Amino acid sequence: MSAAGTIFSKIIAGEIPCQCVYEDERVFAFLDIAPLSHGHVLVLPKEAKAFLHELSDESAAAIGRALPRICRAVLAATGATSYNVLQNNGSAAHQAVMHVHFHIIPMTNAGGLGIAWKPVHLASDEAVALATKIREALQ
Ligand code: AMP
Repeated sequence: MSAAGTIFSKIIAGEIPCQCVYEDERVFAFLDIAPLSHGHVLVLPKEAKAFLHELSDESAAAIGRALPRICRAVLAATGATSYNVLQNNGSAAHQAVMHVHFHIIPMTNAGGLGIAWKPVHLASDEAVALATKIREALQ
């Protein structure tokens, strides 16, 4: 799905202001306008795709290179030592802006990402069948 025309494409193009913290040929990062905590940053590929699985290898590699570097800078700037990296795909998974983005969310006394982690049971025969299916899909 194309993400052209989203607010993030306009931010990357400089048509809407942001507090930019990083830019290279393929990656753009800026402060989230409604942060969950001090230092909440969004990291985006410039490639206009809605979902992570749609990204080109080139954008994926560029994001992979930039993310740890930007995480280090956020920690250095905020003094935080714990943080979450969150990446939502699809409105059912809480994605509001349909342009791939990674949230870097420092965990502080004053805020951070709240997670409702409710594991479900996975039977061992189910696990074998599922892992086989995923391996096959990766061929
Ligand atoms: P998501 O739910 O993963 O799609 O997150 C979208 C994020 O984009 C939210 O955390 C918003 O606060 C943030 N956001 C939306 N518009 C802007 C904007 N103009 N500048 C910075 N962040 C924004």
